Amino acid sequence: MPASIIDGTELARQIRADVAREVSERLQAGKPQPGLATVLVGDDPASHDYVRSKHKACNEVGIRSFGNELPANASQKEVEDLVRKLNDDPEVNGILVQLPLPKGLDEERILSLIDLSKDVDGFHPINVGRLAQKGREPLFVPCTPAGCMVMLEKYCDRIEGKNAVVLGRSNIVGMPVALLLVRANATVTICHSRSADLPGIIRQADILVTAVGRPEMVRGDWIKPGAVVIDVGINHVDDATKKRGYRLVGDVKFDEAVEVAGAITPVPGGVGPMTIAMLLKSTLYASKLAHG
Ligand code: NDP
Repeated sequence: MPASIIDGTELARQIRADVAREVSERLQAGKPQPGLATVLVGDDPASHDYVRSKHKACNEVGIRSFGNELPANASQKEVEDLVRKLNDDPEVNGILVQLPLPKGLDEERILSLIDLSKDVDGFHPINVGRLAQKGREPLFVPCTPAGCMVMLEKYCDRIEGKNAVVLGRSNIVGMPVALLLVRANATVTICHSRSADLPGIIRQADILVTAVGRPEMVRGDWIKPGAVVIDVGINHVDDATKKRGYRLVGDVKFDEAVEVAGAITPVPGGVGPMTIAMLLKSTLYASKLAHG
């Protein structure tokens, strides 16, 4: 039987509707409107697209958004001064520094300057450190990994005790997903470019999360029958039949995997929409931290 399709667009729509309702209730109760500030350095077109989508999504749920753009040659001090200014701005509850930053900027230092209570992307080293430590609670967790967990909680009968394999170990996706799965009591294996026998390891996975950025690398016969597969990858492949000249595919060969898995996310329409929904949720939470 083909896998259930995990509909990220619909799940994200529900989360956004919940956020919109709660924002409206808080406004009626006299609370200030939540606000998200974005920091965009340079002119990477994909980053501009992502930030634009984030502002649009904020607008739709009643969250104010403040765009801050700096040129690609902005100095470390200029970026740091901007983050400090946003930390001090009471109208800003969440600060999102769009990654990757242009080469030459010290990303870790910039992220570590964000006020912990405004770190809606969850990349402040203290929030990351708490995520990695037993018995410690981060104030925020990174949005894409958080979205993966929402999907798993809904589509796995149980996460605890399951074998989970995470393909990819980036700071943004792979590593925080793995840490969240450990916190949910899964037994976690992290694979990367130096791992030996990926198919053999992945065949043990009851839960598979892929975040490698390699189009359709994971084949159907690598997947354990009944596994829940969360495909974070967003890859452009040439396609002359499309108006844009390309189509989007994940890290998993969907047509093959859908015949074997128990549930699987499509690309597009899987993890992608969840990332922004989780950002909105985190911004609302940041506003609650600030205003009760
Ligand atoms: P990175 O390039 O930062 O990390 C990729 C990871 O995959 C690395 O750990 C790398 O290993 C590993 N890897 C690369 N090639 C192989 C290989 N052949 N075999 C095994 N492991 C390999 O990517 P990101 O984590 O930032 O993103 C991953 C994908 O997720 C991309 O397609 C990106 O577009 C997408 N993405 C989607 C989001 C969403 O909202 N849906 C949000 C963020 C990302 P090593 O560490 O050894 O180099």
